[in-house]
Amino acid sequence: MIAVSAAFDSGNIEVVRCEAPDDIVLRIARDAHSDFFQWFHFRLSGARGEACTVRIIGLEASAYPGGWPGYEAVTSHDRATWVRSPSRYDAAADGGTLTIEVTPLHDHVWLAYFAPYSMERHHELVARMMVLPGVQARVLGASLEGQPIDCLTIGEGPRQVWLYARQHPGESMAEWWMEGALEMLTDPADEVAAALRAGATIHCIPNMNPDGSCRGHLRTNAAGVNLNREWAGPTAERSPEVLAALAAMTATGVDFAIDVHGDEAIPQVFIAGFEGIPGITERQLGLLGRYKETLARATPDFQTRIGYPPAAAGRANLTMSTNQLAERFGCLAMTLEMPFKDHDDNADSRAGWSPERSKGLARSCLAVLAEMLPDLR
Ligand SMILES: [Zn+2]
Repeated sequence: MIAVSAAFDSGNIEVVRCEAPDDIVLRIARDAHSDFFQWFHFRLSGARGEACTVRIIGLEASAYPGGWPGYEAVTSHDRATWVRSPSRYDAAADGGTLTIEVTPLHDHVWLAYFAPYSMERHHELVARMMVLPGVQARVLGASLEGQPIDCLTIGEGPRQVWLYARQHPGESMAEWWMEGALEMLTDPADEVAAALRAGATIHCIPNMNPDGSCRGHLRTNAAGVNLNREWAGPTAERSPEVLAALAAMTATGVDFAIDVHGDEAIPQVFIAGFEGIPGITERQLGLLGRYKETLARATPDFQTRIGYPPAAAGRANLTMSTNQLAERFGCLAMTLEMPFKDHDDNADSRAGWSPERSKGLARSCLAVLAEMLPDLR
């Protein structure tokens, strides 16, 4: 019997019809208490060796309909290796339909919007890092549903660096990036990491939104709140995750911050800056331009031509974290966006953008930080 299940960590799908391999029709559930939806993750069972046609319908109402054209779903048989499966989007069919073709090689196959990063893997990451020399594991606070907001701190230098990810829980590539950053920062043989540990204290929050991650949300926490619109005035009732992180950042100060995200529509890696903040300085703009240009030279997996248009002077949205941090601390604070699709400047037709490339990008980002560290204060 063919069956579809999403009743597990970060699962999200609703079955409309599941009668035959060529007639599997599904919908994505909305984030609780909100209208956002786009993340999907489910298991398809009982169709070994059969050519399956999976249709996810109603997607013109999703958070980013522009994310579906040119997008291919990822599939896995071992939940470790994820590859792209042929997918096509028809905006006119059943309110917007993504059709995925997959022939399961085994009794179960998993499908997802991007390679998932489970809360179990999060806890394994924290445990693996915490036992290494020079790593301090702290709990900054708790989510609405009582999960810890974990922070791993490495290094003893005077510059205060904050790296944080997954405010938007469906952007799982952000925690893959954090895993790459933490592995590099704790590598005893890495000279760049040694320079960073000597020159900076690096605070890493691998997952800002554990509740949304477990629940299979795209964009919000358990209360349906978009955490990256809470930084001007977080509250214990709506956004304790941000309240905890901002309190910890205020205690140390911030010289440099990266908020790690994924973008649904744009097939490129890019950085969004803070150009429109009221207190913008030439020094901040100079650091921003230099960081982006140096990173583009350091790796083919980054570019500066394509991204979000910068906010007009004085018009930045201060509820967004990097604008708030750049304004409050006068620092370099950037939003890093990785694609759900691929980085078209350096495309990989088999895997698309992937966990491995997310981790590699983290190493490049940290190398540029190391180079600029002396000028950050
Ligand atoms: Zn995001």
